[in-house]
This record gives sequence, C-alpha cells and structure tokens, in this order.
Amino acid sequence: MKNDHRKDNFLAKYFSNRLKAHYTDFSSWIQIIVFVIAYALIACIQIHTDNSGLSGIIAQPLIIMSIYLVIQIIKLGYIVSVAVNLTYAIFVTYHVVVHHEPQAIPGIILPISTIIIVSIISFYGRRLNDQITQVRMQREEIQNLYETVAEAKNELVVRNQQLLEYNQILEENESRMQHLSNFDLLTELPNRATILGRLDLLISIMADKKMSFSFIFIDIDNFGSINEDVGHRIGDMLLQAFSLRLGMLIHPEDMIGRLGSDEYALVIQHQMSEQELFSYIESIRTSLQEVFPIEGNEYSLTASFGVSIFPSDGVDAEELLKCANVAMLKAKENGKNCVQFFRRDMRLEIEQKIIYQKRLMNSIKNNELFLVYQPQFTPDKKRLRGLEALVRWNSAKFGVVSPVQFIPIAEEAGYIIPMGEWILRTACKKAVEIEEKYHNGIIISVNISSVQLMAPNFLAMVSSVLQETHCEGRLLEFEVTESVMISSLDIAVSLLKEIKTMGIRVALDDFGTGYSSFRYIQLLPIDTLKIDKSFIDSIEYQDTQSLLVAAIITLVHQLNLEVVAEGVDSEKKVIFLTKASCDYLQGHLWGMPAGDEDTDMRLAAIFSPRDEET
Ligand code: C2E
Ligand code: MG
Ligand code: MG
Repeated sequence: MKNDHRKDNFLAKYFSNRLKAHYTDFSSWIQIIVFVIAYALIACIQIHTDNSGLSGIIAQPLIIMSIYLVIQIIKLGYIVSVAVNLTYAIFVTYHVVVHHEPQAIPGIILPISTIIIVSIISFYGRRLNDQITQVRMQREEIQNLYETVAEAKNELVVRNQQLLEYNQILEENESRMQHLSNFDLLTELPNRATILGRLDLLISIMADKKMSFSFIFIDIDNFGSINEDVGHRIGDMLLQAFSLRLGMLIHPEDMIGRLGSDEYALVIQHQMSEQELFSYIESIRTSLQEVFPIEGNEYSLTASFGVSIFPSDGVDAEELLKCANVAMLKAKENGKNCVQFFRRDMRLEIEQKIIYQKRLMNSIKNNELFLVYQPQFTPDKKRLRGLEALVRWNSAKFGVVSPVQFIPIAEEAGYIIPMGEWILRTACKKAVEIEEKYHNGIIISVNISSVQLMAPNFLAMVSSVLQETHCEGRLLEFEVTESVMISSLDIAVSLLKEIKTMGIRVALDDFGTGYSSFRYIQLLPIDTLKIDKSFIDSIEYQDTQSLLVAAIITLVHQLNLEVVAEGVDSEKKVIFLTKASCDYLQGHLWGMPAGDEDTDMRLAAIFSPRDEET
C-alpha cells in the first residue's frame, strides 16, 4: 500500500514535471533542437537511400526519437514531434507528387504512423496525468480530512477534559447545594428542615425504645433592636458567636440547629431527670449571658428557653416544635432570659396573644389608635405648661387597651416604629392647631420609646413629620426613659442633642424607676425631669422616700432642669410638692387624660380664644 502510494507519487511527479518541462527547462529546448537536427539528418539520409530495406531501418530511429521526445517533454515534445513528422510527410508527398516517385509512398506512411503513435502516447499520457492529478487531489483531500479529523479529535479530547472539569464543578456545586439546603449559611448549623428531619428520626427510634427526649426552643431576647443598634454586620457576627458558644456548651449526644433569624433549637437526647434537665438548660442560659467580644467591643445577649418533652407534650416533630415555641413565648412574657417548660394551659393563652399581636399590627390601618392629652400645670394651677400625649388602642375585639399592655408588644415586634411615627404626626397636628388658636406656646409632650429612638432613620422621620405638619420644634417635648442609656450612652447623647437642635425639648420620664443616677442625668442633654408616680405616691405616707422627693427636686434645680411630678392625685401631694418647689404637676387631680374634643373644651375653659380676646 505504501509502495503503491510512492509509485503513484513518482508517476505523478514525473508526468507533471514532463508537462511543465517545455516552459521551465532549458535542457528541454536543447533536446528539441537536437531532435529536430537529428530528425532532419536521418530523414535526409533516408530520402537519399535507394535501398528500401536500409531505408526502413533508418526510419526506426525517427519513430523512436519522436516517441522519446513525447515521453520526455509531453506537451511541447508532442507539438514538435507532430510538426516535424508532418513536415516530413508533406515533403515526401511533394516528392511523390512532383517527381512521380510512387516508390516513396511508404515514406509518407512512416511520419503519419509516427504522428498517430505519439498522439496515442500523448493522449494516454495526459489522461494518466489527469487521473494521477485527480488521485493526488483526492489524496490531499483525504490528507486534509485526516488532519481535520485529527484536529477534531484533539478538540474532542480538550472538550472531554473540560466536560470532566465541569462535571466536577457540578458535583461540587451539587454537594454545596445539598449543604445549603440542610445547613444554615450564617452559622453553619443544621437548619429548620434538617432539625425537623432529625427529630422525626429520633422520634421513631425513641418510640421503639420507649424512651423520652426534650426539644428546646431558644430565642435571643430583643435581637431586633440589638440588630438595629449595632448594625446588621455586627448582628450577624453576634449570631455566629452565639451559635459557636451554644455548640461548646452542649453535651456531645445533643444537637443544635438554627430555626431562623434569632431562633435556635436544641435537641437533648442524653437521658436525665427533669431536675437535671432544668439545671442543664439553666447552665447553658447563664453561660450564654457572658459577654461576646467582637471587634474590640463587648456585647451581651440573653435568651428565652421553651422546653417540650417527647412523648408527653407531642408525638411528632411539628407538635414538639410548636409546644416548645409556646413555652418560649411564655418565657418572654415572664420577663425573658429564663427557662419555661411547656404546660397544656399555655397554648390557649399564647394563641390569644398571637391574635392580639396580629390585631395590634393592623391598628393604624384600621384607624384604631387615638391620642389622649393630660395637662401639666404650675403648682398653683394658674399656668398650663402643656399636655402629655398618651396613646390608646381602641380595638374592635379587646376594647380600649392601655399602652402599658400594648407598647411592649409593639416594641418587641418593631411595630413601635410606624406607631411612633403616627403618634408624633397626630401630636404635631394637635400642637399646631392649639398654637394657631391660642398662641400660648403650649408644649405637647410625646413619649418616645427607646426602640423608636434608636431606629436608624429616627431623626429624618422627625424632621419630615415637622415639615409635613408645619410644626415648630419649640411646641414639642420628647419624653425618653432611662432605658435609652442601656444600649449606648454616647449614641443616646448625640441623638438627644440632635433633637434639641430642632428646638424640641427633652424630658427624662419615669425618674425613680430605673438607674435614677444623677451621674447619668448630668450626662444626658435634658431640659426636664419627670418624677415617677411610684415616687410621688410615697408622699402620702410621709416616709423617708418622700423626703427624697424634696431632695431630688432641689438637686435637679441645681442642674438647671425643670421638674414635673407625675401621678399627682391628692391635695396632700400638691401641698408637699408646692413646698418642695416642684415646677409642674401632672395627675388625675387636675386632669385625667382626655380625648380630642374634651381637650379642646378644657383648653377653651382655660384660655379665651385669641379672636375673642381681640
Ligand atoms: P408615662 O409616660 O409615665 O405616662 C404617665 C402615665 O401615668 C399615663 O398612663 C397616665 O395616664 C398615668 N397617670 C397620670 N396621672 C395619674 C394619676 O394621678 N394616677 C394614676 N394612677 N395614673 C396617672 P398611660 O396613659 O396608661 O401610659 C402609661 C405609659 O405608657 C406611659 O407612662 C408611657 O410610658 C407609655 N405610653 C403612653 N403613651 C405612649 C406613647 O404615645 N408612646 C410611647 N412610646 N409610650 C406611651
Ligand atoms: Mg410620659
Ligand atoms: Mg412617666
């Protein structure tokens, strides 16, 4: 096969060289000239030879030479050969015709036969050449095809390699997806679905063995407001640190997981008595209270724990989770940062609370909120300083609800933010309305929850409400409690300073119920101090605390602050506070908190409207 290939190549090269020869080869021209001269000489000899036998022999080289020339120089050789033989034939024919030499007729046949022979050789030579060229082209095509196939094969190998890599990446992604669907991204703990799955498994094992285990629902206290205060980045780091600590505190047989935002699950499998179980959870709770150092700062967290036990509280995963959740909510209600075991009677209570919360969250939308206003007078009751705006919720289901009940729930759920904005807007409108009517600079005091104050856009919200209602800052006072200092004193101070730059006064509410430290009072940029009702009540009994009230008033005056006494509901208190030089009194004795219309009537009775004055 290889030899054939070589032979074909050789022939192809030979014929193509011969074909081209007359154009390129100098030696071809020499050969042609030699041929023509030799032919002419031999032809002359042949013509002049009388011996016909010798003449036939001499004619042979002419044929051989012609064939040789055609083979050597196919195209040009053929033309020359035909031309020479034709000339010879014409010449001999001329002789035969002109000199009447019929014996020379065979001399005509010789060149004619030579022409025929060289024509045949040339024809077949060309055909052979064409075929060889065709074969060569086909071979080249096959060669190209082979190269293309080889390239394609290489490409395929590369593609295959790539496919293998993609496959590997896909497999890695798949296992990552698997991990993501089973584990929590932030804490790397098993997620809710995984926890529920493992609970199902554990339930079937424990049911067979007739053994029990407990499920603990853990919820970080006030995480919503902590997140707002410290920012979501630190909030996330806190959750990670909390998860890590929780993982280190548990028994190797137990399992933890993250149910969602600040909710964790703890499955306690190792067997112990109820008392031991309580101590175990308590030890976890107290250890979680220790500070978390993050980026040079220290943060503390507390959590509420709800416990449900298999099989007494529930026989499936969902049921156990629900019971533990209910117990956790009860722990929150009991003041947070404690452990609560599930009891049957809790469910109804909690369910009602959930309904209560849902309705509260719709109170603005349903137009169920309204403000009442309680006056603050000088002790001689001659001058009205202002009105404290107090919110009420007139629920279609629960009737008029006290803020003492619903404000903490609104704070926990973050609903205090829109609710506080609604309260401020309503109070501003009232302040503008009163000012336009009486021009007496009556102050409306608005209670601001710490959660609301610490919300990121609080200051922007206040300035936009002031603009929208055309309310001047001087007509407002914000009442804040000492709890604002809990998260960060620095932030609270700078926020209160900003509030004061808007012309709004700041009062410290409920003094006597919190830290009640004068060191803090000196640090806070406040204008007024409100002594809490619980302190004022002591006046009734004339005990040591009542002496303290008088001392506080003196001290507060030394700090150049105004004092407002809350819960003044008896003449005795008025006399005492007048003697103690209290600046303003607020209480049921001189005015219960009143709705819009009653407040208008109250104000009309105190002031004659400006129109009437003029
Ligand atoms: P607070 O700001 O210290 O309001 C004074 C509370 O004492 C009011 O109760 C008022 O009705 C009550 N009070 C006034 N004088 C007397 C009295 O002589 N005797 C008795 N027994 N009580 C008196 P209220 O309106 O139930 O508000 C309770 C608390 O709810 C408020 O305490 C405040 O902390 C919160 N709150 C009320 N309204 C709002 C509000 O609009 N926003 C926020 N964030 N909290 C509010
Ligand atoms: Mg108040
Ligand atoms: Mg108060």
